[in-house]
Amino acid sequence: MKRALLLSLLLCLPIFAYADDVAALIESYENPALGPAAKVTNLTIGVSNITIELNGSAAPVRAGKDVIGLFFAGTGKYTYRSTDPIETSIAMFEAKKASKIKAEKSGDTVVLTDTFSRMFLRTGGVQLPQLPEGTSQELDAAFKAHRENFSHARVAPASHLLIRQRLDKPSSPVARIEFDGDETTLYELDSIERKTESISSLLRIMEMPTNEMKNWLQPVVISEQPVGRGRTDFVDPPFLLTAIDYTLIGNLDETAKLSIDETVVPRGTAQRSFHFNLNSRVWDTSAKPKDYHVDKITDANGKELSFHHAEDSLIVGLPLAVPANTPVKLHFEISGNFLFHPNSDSFWQLGTEPWFPQPELNGQYYTIHSVVKVHKPWTAFAPGTTVRREPEGDYNVVENRIEKPVQFAVVHAGKYALSEEKHDDLTIRVASYAGNNDRAMKQLGTLAWKMIKFYEPWLGPFPFKEFNIIEIHELGYGQAPPATMFITKEAFNPTMGEDNQIFSRGINHRFAHEIAHQYWGHVVKMGSSEEQWVTEAFAEYSSSLVIKKLKGDDTYNGMISTWKANAKDAGSYAPIPLCNRIRNPRDFRQAFLDRTFLLYDKGAYLLAVLHKQLGDQKFLTFMRSLQGFFEWKYLTTNDIARLLQRVDDGRDYQPWFRQYYWGTEMPQMPKG
Ligand SMILES: [Zn+2]
Repeated sequence: MKRALLLSLLLCLPIFAYADDVAALIESYENPALGPAAKVTNLTIGVSNITIELNGSAAPVRAGKDVIGLFFAGTGKYTYRSTDPIETSIAMFEAKKASKIKAEKSGDTVVLTDTFSRMFLRTGGVQLPQLPEGTSQELDAAFKAHRENFSHARVAPASHLLIRQRLDKPSSPVARIEFDGDETTLYELDSIERKTESISSLLRIMEMPTNEMKNWLQPVVISEQPVGRGRTDFVDPPFLLTAIDYTLIGNLDETAKLSIDETVVPRGTAQRSFHFNLNSRVWDTSAKPKDYHVDKITDANGKELSFHHAEDSLIVGLPLAVPANTPVKLHFEISGNFLFHPNSDSFWQLGTEPWFPQPELNGQYYTIHSVVKVHKPWTAFAPGTTVRREPEGDYNVVENRIEKPVQFAVVHAGKYALSEEKHDDLTIRVASYAGNNDRAMKQLGTLAWKMIKFYEPWLGPFPFKEFNIIEIHELGYGQAPPATMFITKEAFNPTMGEDNQIFSRGINHRFAHEIAHQYWGHVVKMGSSEEQWVTEAFAEYSSSLVIKKLKGDDTYNGMISTWKANAKDAGSYAPIPLCNRIRNPRDFRQAFLDRTFLLYDKGAYLLAVLHKQLGDQKFLTFMRSLQGFFEWKYLTTNDIARLLQRVDDGRDYQPWFRQYYWGTEMPQMPKG
């Protein structure tokens, strides 16, 4: 490859006198000024794996006094190389399905090339070539048009990453490059948080329900490769969220007030800016927008902190850096009308989406103390041990605690009837929507208890003292936050007919799957979406052993055949860890199915093969050891391979996982 010519001017970035004023910094980065334009000929810029050639006009772009990048119009071309063999097949697939970017494969390398007519590059820590002295304002209109188009991009503001780099990681390069031409494309180098570089196609999707949404530019990842780390490594987060302590007041008009204390701990290096995911706006089931508003953020002394919140991304600045491994408390006041009632039903849910400020999965590791107040006659549910449940004026209040580190705090409220039963020292609470269904509630509680008793000998003691089973007034899915199972209404009325039975894959199976998530998902955790099989495939396979016990070998063998067939149907264009990247703008349904078939079916099939290979005793020891060694920890596929080696007399399992998990091949089921 032709190396990019790096000319010598390093961007000069003096530290601002008001470094803690994140909002002012963001303001200047989000409203950059264009300098005078000059002609450029064969100008080459190289950033990590992308090389850009420019022929046309270019102008420096400033934030305040500082040059933070350049804008270009003319005839441009880029060449990007993905050198990670794990993503070769999915990168080729997405380049073809979601873009017109030219993709060529040679060995394990994918080369993406495209031309463009406009480019806006912003960076911190990357040397840029010095531009010739500019004299004209000719790019002003093009810059304005470019900025307008990219204002529809559904991505975090570029300034958030640039400010993080500037304040906390000046020696770690970051870049955001927007290309516009026949294709609209985004390149990002993030050596700080995700530790990846990526290229995404930005697409307008005409099937969206409103005109505003049809105008969105939605990113589809073509390539995302690790930077300065291996693909299979656990990515150490910039900081851990170790405790949340909140009061949420929910009103019948869908408005809410959330007051939350968060304890965060910087990892590795001192930090004075913290980046969180937090919804900015969500849409209800009739596509009406609902907003989250951050009213105020303060430190432990009540001093107001500077912040910026946009596009589901929140950045907060502190006056002084917090030393590594030192806990610090942040207090957030958030309000809005985000407690919408799906399909005008009588419930709302704050689920696994970021309804409070939270880091990525690898930083979510928190205990919970919660107080939830909902207007009478509604009832609220939050996970963990109930401290109190009582009326208070016009409100019903519930207070809960979880003392173990979890992810996915949820809260749910609505018109519910409760039934509660104690089995040994576990309280199982069944909440039936909009009416009492005593028989079903008792049955479901007993069913859950039986399944827990089936799991305990080989997965360990049930991890919580209380377990909520909550009916959702919809069909066909389950979900399992900590100490909670949401289950759709067919579980409460199993006689609803064959269709629902098929849709729900059988209530027993779904129930067993969701209960297994208390082990696979909460006791052991996934640290990234690339390790999601740790929760889904392991829960799926564990639940199949419940079904085997209930219905016998034939049913179990039938499940294995289905997994195998589905995995085959999903094709070999993506390995399990990259299934969440599957998008097909021409066939959303197929893309969704392929993802499901890889994550659940192929994942469970791999475990069935291992089970057969190892035999019952070793396999159950393997499952029990995963739960034991990784109790309340993150589990990676590398850890799984290492543990298998211990259980299976020293046999090296890394090649097996490279082929079938990180690779796209299917293993053979051992005979016999
Ligand atoms: Zn699941």
